[in-house]
Amino acid sequence: MTSLPPSAGPGVITIDLRQIAANWCVLADLVRPAECGAVVKANAYGLGADRIIPALVHAGCRSFFVATPGEATQARMLAPTATLYALDGLLAGCADELLAASAIPVLASMAEVREWSALATQIGARLATALHVDTGLNRLGLSAGDVEALMREPGPLAPLDVRLIMSHLASADDPADPKNEAQRAVFDTLRARLPEAPASLAASDGLMLGAPYHYELVRPGYGLYGGQAFRGGPTPVASVLRVAARVLQVRDVSAGETVGYSGSWRAGRAARVAVVSIGYADGYPRAASATNDMAGGRVLVRGVFCPIAGRVSMDLITVDVTDVPVLRGDLVDVIGPGLSIETVGTHAGTIGYEVLTRLGQRFERVYVGEEADIPSSRTSRGEG
Ligand SMILES: *Cc1c(COP(=O)(O)O)cnc(C)c1O
Repeated sequence: MTSLPPSAGPGVITIDLRQIAANWCVLADLVRPAECGAVVKANAYGLGADRIIPALVHAGCRSFFVATPGEATQARMLAPTATLYALDGLLAGCADELLAASAIPVLASMAEVREWSALATQIGARLATALHVDTGLNRLGLSAGDVEALMREPGPLAPLDVRLIMSHLASADDPADPKNEAQRAVFDTLRARLPEAPASLAASDGLMLGAPYHYELVRPGYGLYGGQAFRGGPTPVASVLRVAARVLQVRDVSAGETVGYSGSWRAGRAARVAVVSIGYADGYPRAASATNDMAGGRVLVRGVFCPIAGRVSMDLITVDVTDVPVLRGDLVDVIGPGLSIETVGTHAGTIGYEVLTRLGQRFERVYVGEEADIPSSRTSRGEG
């Protein structure tokens, strides 16, 4: 990654577009002959859909998953010819927006199927449709009973063009969990009862479970952004992100003094504390606060891990830098190479996904790896 611009204010999030594209290419190679899509919901997991979608299009991605109709509208402008799926399905009152964006709603209940079907009949068009079947997550999806009902009475499906049948795994991060195979078996049973269509079961972790989970299309999100949630071994992707915050001041704290709200951390010796310009309003988890009895988060100061001392506040953290020479104006790495989003999540009792998607808008975002530099699958591998 390039060095940070000296003008940067409180901090900088550096996002490596080239690495995101490279991560997509690696996963696409891994799952071939299945197709590799990209999940770009929640503003591409907080990293900026406006920059990431074009980079992925350029890399060769042809199928994108968003959650909401609003995200679909944005994605359509950025990827005019891609196939676009809306994972939240047919939100009440949003059919027009989905149609205008040529987005395919992932229908997940009989109510949605009936409504989309009625609309197709009304406008006299076969509407592109994805069907979500529930295989044990018990979140979104048609139940086995719903699928049975559609098999007996397929009327609502008649005006629909079913392009994809999908389901979602509950425990794909753990390859030893028998629930994976159980869900896969249910998926096969249910899709045999529905019109024939390409199938999709795997997200980032599911695709690591092997070829039987790939079907025709995989839909990674987290892995594209460097996430490593799979517990069966490393996902072959690399970090795309560096979050650097500014040291506002370094202060001497006498032994016995407390630091921060509620005095929850007390210096056991004469200490030096760096006050750093990131807080929970920037998405840094407050649960990474530290007391003397319970360690919290760590940051990388000149390559040395330094512990947070006391509470994470709205705009600031305080870091024990007693043993590291650090100056006002220095940037410290809050996330980056050597300090993964998973580690930051673990320190805060949460997961990397939550850390990633909450990174706020207050930091300057710097994108490196210009589109023109990104290897395109069309030129690098001779594909279209
Ligand atoms: C968010 C989401 C994904 C992507 O999951 P990752 O773990 O980020 O790869 C795939 N499918 C569905 C249904 C999702 O909601």
